[in-house]
Amino acid sequence: MSEIRKHYFLEEHCIIASGRSKRPSAPKVCESEEASSDCVFCAGSEDRTPPATAVYKNGEILQDSDKQNVKDWNIRCIPNLFPALSPDAKDPDLSDFTVSKGYGFHEVIIENPSHDNRIHLSSDEEILLLMQAYQDRVKYYQAKDGIKYVSLFKNWGKKAGASLPHTHSQLIAVPLMPSCLSKEMDVIKKRDICPYCDIVKKERGMERLIYENEYFIAIAPYFSMVPYEILILPIKHINHLSALTDEMLLSLGDCIRYSVSRLDETIPELTYNYMFFQLEHEEEYHFNVRIKPVTSIAAGFEKNTGIYINTMPPEIAVDHLLNRD
Ligand SMILES: [Zn+2]
Ligand SMILES: [Zn+2]
Repeated sequence: MSEIRKHYFLEEHCIIASGRSKRPSAPKVCESEEASSDCVFCAGSEDRTPPATAVYKNGEILQDSDKQNVKDWNIRCIPNLFPALSPDAKDPDLSDFTVSKGYGFHEVIIENPSHDNRIHLSSDEEILLLMQAYQDRVKYYQAKDGIKYVSLFKNWGKKAGASLPHTHSQLIAVPLMPSCLSKEMDVIKKRDICPYCDIVKKERGMERLIYENEYFIAIAPYFSMVPYEILILPIKHINHLSALTDEMLLSLGDCIRYSVSRLDETIPELTYNYMFFQLEHEEEYHFNVRIKPVTSIAAGFEKNTGIYINTMPPEIAVDHLLNRD
């Protein structure tokens, strides 16, 4: 039996086809990972990357000259070696059929000096620092001339698009508002109450709740496009990372860490993307983080219709994630 489910507030649909919703059971085999001695993101390889744009070390942020040679760092931000966009291209004209130079910024955030670090194994101190670095770097690029959106995301595993196994996130600052967010805003502006606040209110008491701490909840959303999808929302209405206090940042980091640890326990050879959705200048937007494990690829039907077929109902996914079955 399958079900067609409509998105909470958008005109989007997915198909939940539960016929094959077995717990994933492939044996856990390690990806043939690059040895840490070959890894340019490891501590000690600082001179093998472009000069750092920012370095976090012992609670301090170093953003001035000679960052390249800073050793014993906790988090290191560098320009992407193969950037999707470049700060040298100016004044993009985004009208129809106009060739426009790709203005923007593309940064890699090396989350930890150790090659073997995994985000779900981070200490409170490490996860807080990572969230603080996310907040800082997003604010930094958001303030740049002509930047309309800063996309912050993490790809984990080759299947999810990560080219290196050393734990890192990325940030791409673009001179335009992504259409998926304008679409959301159009709907949100027409509503009397925030649809995300409504999701928090309803899902908090439901079987799809995965985790809740002081400021955040993690749910397996009713509208799940992929198996084991997780949606993280602040319980109170907040539109952007910059509005979070350190206490809230720790709470957010804890929620991400818990969610990834449950996924790691449940899905063999876990690969995933997580993405931050936020709009600094739109008070009505509700900040959220979406974690999407990569367990299959979008094929003809998905690309033709935008309708995803998900073979793992979120209600069963939660049971697997929380070992309730
Ligand atoms: Zn490494
Ligand atoms: Zn809200």
